Amino acid sequence: MPRERIFRDDEDDDEDRSRSSSGGALFDRENRELDERLRPERLEDVIGQRNVVERVRVILDATRKRGDTLGHILFDGPPGIGKTTLATVIPKELGVDCQITAGPALDAPKDLLPYLTNATHGSVLFIDEIHRLRPAVEEFLYPAMEDFRIDIALGEGMNARTINMQLKPFTVIGATTRAGMLTAPMRDRFVYREHLDFYLQEDLIEIVQRNAKKLRTTITMEAAIEVAKRCQGTPRKANNLLLRTRDFATLEHPEGQITTKIADTALKRLEIDALGLERQDRRYLEVLMDVFGGGPAGLQAIAHSMSVPPDTLEDDIEPFLLRSGLIQRTPRGRVTTPKAYDHLGRTRPEQDRPPGTLF
Ligand code: ADP
Repeated sequence: MPRERIFRDDEDDDEDRSRSSSGGALFDRENRELDERLRPERLEDVIGQRNVVERVRVILDATRKRGDTLGHILFDGPPGIGKTTLATVIPKELGVDCQITAGPALDAPKDLLPYLTNATHGSVLFIDEIHRLRPAVEEFLYPAMEDFRIDIALGEGMNARTINMQLKPFTVIGATTRAGMLTAPMRDRFVYREHLDFYLQEDLIEIVQRNAKKLRTTITMEAAIEVAKRCQGTPRKANNLLLRTRDFATLEHPEGQITTKIADTALKRLEIDALGLERQDRRYLEVLMDVFGGGPAGLQAIAHSMSVPPDTLEDDIEPFLLRSGLIQRTPRGRVTTPKAYDHLGRTRPEQDRPPGTLF
């Protein structure tokens, strides 16, 4: 019998997981509820990411066969791409307990202590945003991950002593949007490292259709394709668009089907363009073009001009712009590409540019 038990302890600390332009805490909460409702429960329900899923399946089968504890796993990739989904599916597949926390929720080693001491044999501790662990917490975690033991310092001065506590063997599953920000010792402690990339359109169509069923609504194939095209290759955004288009369909008819016409109207109202860019994405391009003449410009400078935290730009906005070839990262900073000018319907600048830039 699976003894899976899940609780999260980062309720107040992850408001910036969603982009700040999206409407703040309420949006975050709605988003999270939607995530939980639509999240696949088993590995067989995870759509796309075939290579990653296949490797995870092998890892799980081998672990079961050996009767071992699962090695520590790190998932990295942009927000909303399925890191939490895979991390929570794994303990369900193994029938073990799962505890959930996040880097920013752990201020000091003592915050990590209950998770470590509560960890049952073979259980999973999922640490979201693991790149944001404080150094002291990270160091406390090292021996726990390596030898399943922790050193606890008691008392101060002359009376100070350290006690060594043995833990049950357990597995850390880490998730990060910034694998590059992880310290080398932390990265090295993960036996398996998997990168999740943007989804193929066919997989997004399947996600949209499956989730429409879960939401007890219907969507035509054409409308599902439209949503899949405009969700920036990201399941969380696809789910969001599905929910928003469903609202428009309901207004038309209480049991309304989501048709292409409704999807188009909804996407227009939501200011999501043909490539799937949202207002904030276009603003990024406009700032880079208008304030910095197309670049090169540093992340901090762009963030300052947009009054948006640099982390939000790097995590939530830039990955898709880079992937779509609308911007490039050069050693001297970010630059817009000709495609960005074409996409915004602007004339490409004619000025002489130093060698190495894009025009
Ligand atoms: P991340 O942890 O990378 O930010 P999540 O795992 O929370 O992303 O994914 C957000 C939502 O997208 C999930 O609740 C789920 O509904 C959907 N989703 C993500 N990956 C998949 C997938 N491979 N198949 C089906 N749905 C997915």
